[in-house]
Parts: sequence; structure tokens; C-alpha cells
Amino acid sequence: MNHTIQKIKLDAKVEAFLNKSPKKLFIGGQFVESISGKSFKSINPATGEVLCEVYEAGEQDIDRAVDEAEKAFHGPWSKMSASDRSRLIWKLADLIEENLEAIAQLETLDNGKPIRETRNADIPLVIDHFRYYAGWVNKFSGEVINNSMHPNVFTYTRREPIGVCGQIVPWNFPLLMASWKLGAALATGNVVILKSAENTPLSVLFLAELIQQAGFPEGVVNIVSGYGHRIGTAMTNHPRIRKIAFTGSTEVGKSIMRDASKYLKRVTFELGGKSPNIIFPDADFSKAIPGALRSIFFNQGQVCTAGSRLYIHKKIYDRFLSDMADQAAKLKVGPGIEEETQVGPLVSAKQFETVRGYLEKGKQEGARPITGGTTIEGSGYFIPPTIFTDVTDEMTIAREEIFGPVVSAMPFDDDEQMTDVIRRANESEYGLAAGVWTTDVRKAHKIAHALEAGTVWVNCYNLFDATMPFGGFKQSGFGREMGRSALEMYTEVKSVWVDLD
Ligand code: NAD
Ligand code: MN
Repeated sequence: MNHTIQKIKLDAKVEAFLNKSPKKLFIGGQFVESISGKSFKSINPATGEVLCEVYEAGEQDIDRAVDEAEKAFHGPWSKMSASDRSRLIWKLADLIEENLEAIAQLETLDNGKPIRETRNADIPLVIDHFRYYAGWVNKFSGEVINNSMHPNVFTYTRREPIGVCGQIVPWNFPLLMASWKLGAALATGNVVILKSAENTPLSVLFLAELIQQAGFPEGVVNIVSGYGHRIGTAMTNHPRIRKIAFTGSTEVGKSIMRDASKYLKRVTFELGGKSPNIIFPDADFSKAIPGALRSIFFNQGQVCTAGSRLYIHKKIYDRFLSDMADQAAKLKVGPGIEEETQVGPLVSAKQFETVRGYLEKGKQEGARPITGGTTIEGSGYFIPPTIFTDVTDEMTIAREEIFGPVVSAMPFDDDEQMTDVIRRANESEYGLAAGVWTTDVRKAHKIAHALEAGTVWVNCYNLFDATMPFGGFKQSGFGREMGRSALEMYTEVKSVWVDLD
């Protein structure tokens, strides 16, 4: 593949941001160097080249951030009126909107994802997310309760913030995952230490500048860059961090849960998935084929909800799959920063190697790629859209989360009851999402109820909205982000009894 990049014109703000290197940590409202003075490099996965240096936080930096967060929590943040807090969150959304193009470019450079996605999906969703939670600040509260036994006791509940929340985000939607965590936490009056993923520290550091500009009290949001096994664990083991919100792999989720048990921290997890996407013979192909493509190739398949197990009814299997493969082969693979790119590089050399390993494993176990199936030589981490057929439910590629542009297609043969496909779809340790394509409304609802998944999309896939709760069944996590649900996850319920006699 030819990697000569027809770059779009870089926004002046991006150049200025990248030139100020190493990027500092954001602690107590100030940009500071790490106490150790250590830094690491952030890479552009389209070229393998260094984008800029970033200071690496250590344990002592986390301590400092916790001190600053506690100060804010007991100080100005808790004294601020709900209206003012709401206005700050709204202001942040406005500032992100003013900087949309710069942030979209920065995200694309650091993560690799196509600019058309950062511009039209990631960053607009971030903006809407903050606006949605700005609206909740003075609307989410406890309730007056008519108790049953004590007529002269006035009883009510309060929804109080938890306090210092540690938020650990992944690299697949760096700014969007950060905003999912920040929105609800800030709306409910918490203070935050947010750790970006080591592959993609840049967009949240840009956000830190906007948080400072918006005028949040110092220490309300602290943003640190660094590695999971160093400061991630420093956060999950910290006695004064009361909650950990984590998005990432199921394996790390389990280790965080063990760490968090030491002080019984509250935890919410958005973890892995191996989501089934089910195509019935009566599906509208003109929607279902592009839908199936998007479900797995969006963001290079580095999506926790990726429709990576594609169950197609036997009657239409060959026809559906050959049309899908034709269209997959036409997707434009290239650097994310080019306007026409539809599939960018994977985020890192490590992720590239992991996915390459699954391509090999798939072939070894007897599956056959009908498009893609090999990596692309060159300096970036490119893997073309890959569709495997001749897959069985037992194969590694049908069970494990690949987190790359690789889908396992399998036929099913079912009657009206759909028993077989429901059983196979649910036979997974994961339960994050599922897709169903049918024009029969009864079938659609019936199977939506039967699938063990936190989200079911019918005749659509990968739709997200600030108003709709999102999270997993089984080993895909617990707790929910977005919607009203997320507010519950960031508050303690206090019951107050007032004797009126
Ligand atoms: P990861 O789970 O290791 O990393 C996610 C975040 O957790 C990063 O910020 C990382 O620094 C931090 N972290 C890592 N180890 C930690 C620890 N012991 N304690 C606290 N924090 C820690 O993910 P990865 O290694 O970058 O990717 C591996 C696989 O994880 C992928 O192939 C994919 O299957 C899965 N993944 C899932 C999601 C998702 O959205 N559910 C996102 C990213 C990766
Ligand atoms: Mn990077």
C-alpha cells in the first residue's frame, strides 16, 4: 500500500498544541511536570512516528491529584449552586464545539481513526453528552418518601456525590469515553482524577485546557497520562479514591475489582464483548449489508460492541456474504487524516500484532477469509477489512474478542421459534450488545427480549445517545453509563429521618 499521505490542512491549534512538548499533567487546575520528570512518547499509528512527548505520572502525582481533588470537593465545588455547575458543564461543551476541527484532527492523529468519524461522530457526541448532563444538574435528586409505620416522621432521601472518583479510559474513543465518565460525575458534584490510555493521551489533555478556560474550580478535574500497570494500579489501590470507573478489557476489569475490594471502592465497568449480529431472511438487504459492515469495520473494529459474530440465515448466507465481501473490499483503507479514508490503522503495534495473531489462528483452525485476511506491509498498523467463513462456534475467532476489523460469519437454520440462534448468540461469556435484522416486528421484539445483552439494536447498529443507558450483562461489566442510570452510579443514597413530634 502506498502511504504517501495527502494530508488535510492541519489546524493551527493542533500544530501549536503538538509543538508544546512534553505535554504536562493537569493537576489542581495547573499544568505541571511529573514529579519524576519522566515522559513517554505518543505515536501516530498511521506512520509509526512520534507525535509528541507526554509527561508520565507516577504514584506521587496521583497523591497530589487526590489532595487537590479533595480540596475542591470540600471547598468551592460543593458550595457552588446547581445553576452555576450546570453552566460550567455547558460552557465546556461550547468550548469543545468551538475547537471541534482541532480536536477531531488531534484525535485522528493520535488514535488513527478516520477524520470523517472524529468530525461527525466522536466529537459531536462528546459535545451533546456534556450538554445532556449539564441539564441534569438541578433535576436529579432524592425523593420524599411516604413511610408506612411512622406517621409523624418526615422521611426523604438525598443523592450525594461519592467524592474522589478515579476514571480509567481506553484508547478506542479517547475523548468520547472520557466525556461519558466526566459528564455524570460532574453533574452530580463529584471530583475526578482521569487517566487516559497510554496510546492516546492527547485529546484529553486538549480538553484539560478547555476545562481550565471554562473556569472550573481548581482540582475538580485532574487529568493524568501514564501506564495502567503503574498509575492505573496506584489509582485502584489508593485509599482516598472512592470509586473507580473503568472501560477496557475484561481481564484488567477483573484485576481492578480485586484491587478495589481492599477499600471496598465503588466500581463500574464497561468491558469487552463478542457481540452477535443476526440476519434473518426477511431482512432489508439494502440496510442490513451496510449495517453489518459498519458494525464490525467502524473504528477498525476496535469497538467494544463490534458485531464480530455474524449469524446469517442459511437461506441467504451465500448471497448476503458475497455482497458484503464485495463492499468490504471497496472500503478505502488509509491514514485517518485523509478525507476519503473509511478504515484507518489500528491504534498501536501491539494491537496490530494481536489482530495479526487472530488472523493466523483463524486460518490454522480451518476458517477461510473471503476478503482481507493478511496485514498490509508498510510503516503504519494497517489491516484490511476481513471476513471469515467456514467458522464454527468453538473456534477461537468466534469466541474471543479480537478488537480489530475481523468478523466471523456463521450460518444458522431456524424455525419460527429462533431457539437455535438465540442459544448460540447467548453462548458467550460476554453480553454487551447484539444486532438483529428483520422486517417482522414480532420476531424483532421477541428476540430482543431473549438476547443476553445490555444493548440490542434492531435494523441498526452502533447507535449511541447520551439519553440511552449503556453497559453490559455477564462479563461485559456492570453499572451503566449515560442516561439517568449513570447519575445513580455517581451518587450515594442517604435516608434522612426527621421526628416531627
Ligand atoms: P486495557 O484494558 O489494558 O487498557 C484500558 C485502560 O486501562 C488503559 O487506560 C490502561 O492504561 C489501563 N490499565 C491497564 N492495566 C491496568 C491495571 N492493572 N490497573 C488499572 N488500569 C489499568 O486494554 P489494552 O491492553 O489497551 O487492550 C487490550 C484489549 O482490551 C483489546 O484487545 C480489547 O480486546 C480490550 N479493550 C476493550 C475496550 C472496550 O471499550 N471495552 C477498550 C480498549 C481495549
Ligand atoms: Mn497515539
